[in-house]
Amino acid sequence: MKPVYLDNNATTRVDPEVVAAMLPFFTEQFGNPSSIHAFGSSVGAAVRQARGQLQALLGCAHDHEIIYTSGGTEADNTAILSALETMPDRHEVITSKVEHPAILSLCEHLEKTGRAKVHYIGVDAFGRLDIEAYREALSDKVAVVSLMWANNETGTIFPIEGLADLAKEHGALFHTDAVQAVGKVPISLKDSAIDMLSLSGHKLHGPKGIGALYVKRGVRFKPLLRGGHQERGRRAGTENASAIIALGQAAELAAKHMAEEQTRVKGLRDRLEKALVQRIPNCFVNGDPLDRLPNTCNIAFEYVEGEAILLHLNRAGIAASSGSACTSGSLEPSHVLRAMNIPFTAAHGSIRFSFSRDNVDEDVDRVVEALPPIMEKLRALSPFWPGAQNDSKEFKPVYA
Ligand SMILES: *Cc1c(COP(=O)(O)O)cnc(C)c1O
Repeated sequence: MKPVYLDNNATTRVDPEVVAAMLPFFTEQFGNPSSIHAFGSSVGAAVRQARGQLQALLGCAHDHEIIYTSGGTEADNTAILSALETMPDRHEVITSKVEHPAILSLCEHLEKTGRAKVHYIGVDAFGRLDIEAYREALSDKVAVVSLMWANNETGTIFPIEGLADLAKEHGALFHTDAVQAVGKVPISLKDSAIDMLSLSGHKLHGPKGIGALYVKRGVRFKPLLRGGHQERGRRAGTENASAIIALGQAAELAAKHMAEEQTRVKGLRDRLEKALVQRIPNCFVNGDPLDRLPNTCNIAFEYVEGEAILLHLNRAGIAASSGSACTSGSLEPSHVLRAMNIPFTAAHGSIRFSFSRDNVDEDVDRVVEALPPIMEKLRALSPFWPGAQNDSKEFKPVYA
């Protein structure tokens, strides 16, 4: 049976058109893009073209606002460290409790080493940012605010443009980790207050190990890597030309497929969600029901172990992910679901299904068929399972 891949928020398949675009840069077009001679200059031109393709997807004013990086993690780290260095009089950072480890782990390090005081803004049961707490944390001591555009685990979307406007009122820089948003929701940076934005190739059908940081024109910037004059001195190291060209192609395809993401892909997601909630007792959808990525479905199944569900799904040829970034052996539920105050018994059994344009109707049918019997079996074994209840008594979010 054909395997069903529903873990596209972890990584996506490289689009065959992207592969085709990058291949010549391993063979005939092997030059160094910084070289003056023809071998180099043709590659340099292709690298510039890719910058234009990214510019179009982001709706930014100038292609020089884009700095290629080794991925989302490097872009995130560069943004925050640059902000702290260019704002030496400000020693505070604002972020949220539900960010990706690329942000959270750096912030914890900055705190530990005494380089910054960090405010971690909480979220409500739907994963929505506590705007009041954010307003309170803002002051003229804040160098940079870093808030994600869309959450990788639940798909919840933050009202990022408005959050950026608030940061501006206090003269703070505003960065957004948009790794999960780029290619899935329309983005237009030209007239926004967003100073910096991170994206990653492998989350939008490009290769792994390539990404970009957008830095608005006029925003002061300090590089993370020093060396040669690549990227106008903002990111040293010979450009990863083939991957950059691939990222450009991936960006162009993402723009082309954007409408499909909002319609067909969302339709698949919605159908899966509805069917599972209907057929399986004691489960509910995690995340903001009103403002969520069209491809992401995170469902809490009470009284079961997420890992066990995943293993059974894997045996049925279905790839999904547990909400937790939990390494084997660790029983800690995901920091995102914990921040949302999802009860322990449900956070542990939360599964993320994330779609892409590669998915088809049959993928949904396969999960809808496979999952109910798996849940029945696992719950029969669970010492905590009280039996199906019509009313999910423990936790029933009410949308305010
Ligand atoms: C995947 C991801 C990253 C990290 O990107 P890499 O290119 O894998 O380093 C950062 N932030 C979010 C929200 C992500 O989903």
